[in-house]
Amino acid sequence: MPSNLAYVIMGGTFDPVHNGHISLARALYRTFGQKVVFMPTAPPNYKQLPTTTANERLDMLKLAINDNPHFVIDSSEILQQKYIPTIDSLKALRKKIGYDIPLYFLIGEDSLVNLDTWDSWQMLFNLTNFIVAMRPGYSLDQMSEQLKAQCTKRTIKDKSKLIQPFGQIYFLDFTPLNISSTNIRNNYQQKLPTTGMVDPKVDQYIKDNKLYSSNQLC
Ligand code: ATP
Repeated sequence: MPSNLAYVIMGGTFDPVHNGHISLARALYRTFGQKVVFMPTAPPNYKQLPTTTANERLDMLKLAINDNPHFVIDSSEILQQKYIPTIDSLKALRKKIGYDIPLYFLIGEDSLVNLDTWDSWQMLFNLTNFIVAMRPGYSLDQMSEQLKAQCTKRTIKDKSKLIQPFGQIYFLDFTPLNISSTNIRNNYQQKLPTTGMVDPKVDQYIKDNKLYSSNQLC
């Protein structure tokens, strides 16, 4: 990859942002020297509605990343307060930046194994590359045959060959971290420790605003 013109996006609900997200973005920067654009979104329709507001999720993300000059936030989606399928956000981005600039969508393994449930998933490969981090509890064997075939065809082992503007997949060297927003929400609800899972400033924000303490959690 990546020239300075490349674009790396990490989409997610970030409810809340946690050290798994941050470690993944750091690993990306370490490997490619590339800035990461965090793009918080409303959750997809199949996920339970969050108990937090868009502004609260955005505030937590700012607290977690603002000290890092290599991370930025694109809040255009979350401020629309409705779920926007990734295919539509990537099309909108391509309209702005054109099709020559390499685009990389940074995802965890859980997202990859379910990629064929995303809207117009095969079209995504005409818009972006994917950089994937392994995640505990998931296995590439869980992929459908159709998705496996796409992955086999598109995966690049040598990062110096990751040069196309879209259509390639690369597995990042990343030590899997067993942290998820779901675990964290449950831990706050049950008053269990969250040490090492979230940034201390995010932890303070959650406590100050009494987030995740209701019974509405999954
Ligand atoms: P939830 O538990 O609510 O589903 P999450 O922890 O998966 O949330 P998201 O905001 O949905 O967090 O994730 C955004 C992106 O970050 C996704 O591509 C997801 O795969 C990736 N991700 C989240 N946690 C990790 C982790 N521990 N390791 C690697 N990737 C992760």
